[in-house]
Amino acid sequence: MYDVIVIGGGAAGLMAAGFAAKEGAKVLVAEKMVTCGRKLLISGSGRCNITNTLKDTKQFVSKFGKNGKFLYQAVNSFTTSDVVTFFNSKGLKTTVEKGFKVFPAGEAGSADVLRVLMNFCVSNGVEFLPSSPVTAVNVSDGHIVSITIGSREIKCRAVVIACGGKSYPATGSSGDGYTLAAALGHTIVEPRPVLVPAYSDDEWIKELRGVSLRDIRLTLVSGGKKIAEADGDLVFTDRGVSGPAVYDITRYEFDRRAENRLLIDLFPAKRVEELDAELEQAARINNKKQIKNIIDEYVMSSLVPFVFQLSGVDAVLKASNLSKKDRNRLAAVMKGLPLTGVTFGGFERAVVTAGGVSLKKIDGRTMSSVVLEGLYFAGEVMDIDAPTGGYNLQMCWSTGRLAGISCAEYAKKR
Ligand SMILES: Cc1cc2nc3c(=O)[nH]c(=O)nc-3n(C[C@H](O)[C@H](O)[C@H](O)COP(=O)(O)OP(=O)(O)OC[C@H]3O[C@@H](n4cnc5c(N)ncnc54)[C@H](O)[C@@H]3O)c2cc1C
Repeated sequence: MYDVIVIGGGAAGLMAAGFAAKEGAKVLVAEKMVTCGRKLLISGSGRCNITNTLKDTKQFVSKFGKNGKFLYQAVNSFTTSDVVTFFNSKGLKTTVEKGFKVFPAGEAGSADVLRVLMNFCVSNGVEFLPSSPVTAVNVSDGHIVSITIGSREIKCRAVVIACGGKSYPATGSSGDGYTLAAALGHTIVEPRPVLVPAYSDDEWIKELRGVSLRDIRLTLVSGGKKIAEADGDLVFTDRGVSGPAVYDITRYEFDRRAENRLLIDLFPAKRVEELDAELEQAARINNKKQIKNIIDEYVMSSLVPFVFQLSGVDAVLKASNLSKKDRNRLAAVMKGLPLTGVTFGGFERAVVTAGGVSLKKIDGRTMSSVVLEGLYFAGEVMDIDAPTGGYNLQMCWSTGRLAGISCAEYAKKR
């Protein structure tokens, strides 16, 4: 008989298991895959942005949108600083990038994070059952009594569902947590793939594959309506664009089947009129130059031909001959390089899943189910998601720890 069975050995599940065991509970992690933490290993392209430097809990949870306040207690009791201290105290050195994102300092990145978590679990006595997809949580007289794996039943007092969402299903998270939770009376908010790449068949982007743009502003226009803006970096891929700015804009709700366009603003800090005035002055001072040589001073060389192609302005025009209309066109394109006919990646390419187990029946003070005693949730399986920048993993650490401590306490009393 186990006190606690954690279903899913990802970031949230391992944190929950380690803390439950530290509190004295007899804990088993049932993991569907041959090994734990597959998604963790690919996080941050193998570097794993474990958290960030945002210290104010209110500000931190506001990044999760309207559901963020649910996280307040979990994050406040295991903050971004606590997470850094947790990993540092276990020998994992960390480094801060762009003054904000926290990564492991060593070459091994994600693998080091997983090693620390596994050691934390093992040193506190957690047992593991790999290659074991849980198919049911069994209840008798209103209490959890066991879980089912194939034809096997394993007895327990409490369960933490930490099966993740539906994204990158090859890592093991393919939506089982929703089925398990729904069978126990929980409502599931329709899952959506978010933080996904964008695709476009526009010819001009094909030659830009691999080119990165830093600190741009992206605008999403769906069905002719401006939906959202996101600031950050962007990279051109073989099929479109990807990177933090693209990911973050896909968290907004919009009709993915509508005519979608993305506009890339290369100068987010300047109004179009300011840029236009600068171009006017540059053309006046350098009136003998070809206009393409002036634009080359403003945007990276690989983009220059496309600024002309998209604006319809003649690149070899002498600056002294640049008309106001042409100058306005150049400024407009530099403030909004258009990608048309944009489509978006699905669950197979989603960094996170929005939607999931509704928070309405989960107690944010303990991560316990309000529907069934002894049932707890942790991590991405819940209806909660945030932009890139270490927010999603911090949510997993905080909810995992809280679920672990709470379920151990519950199991002790039962
Ligand atoms: C490419 C990529 C990069 C990312 N980079 C970052 C980053 O740098 N920073 C950041 O904050 N976030 C990042 N994320 C998001 C972050 O990795 C996830 O939000 C987080 O790992 C989710 O953890 P989890 O424990 O909730 O779920 P998961 O990590 O998905 O773990 C769930 C586990 O449950 C197991 N499981 C599922 N069903 C069953 C079942 N029936 N029985 C037993 N086990 C089951 C799965 O096999 C899996 O091991 C990234 C995600 C991706 C895909």
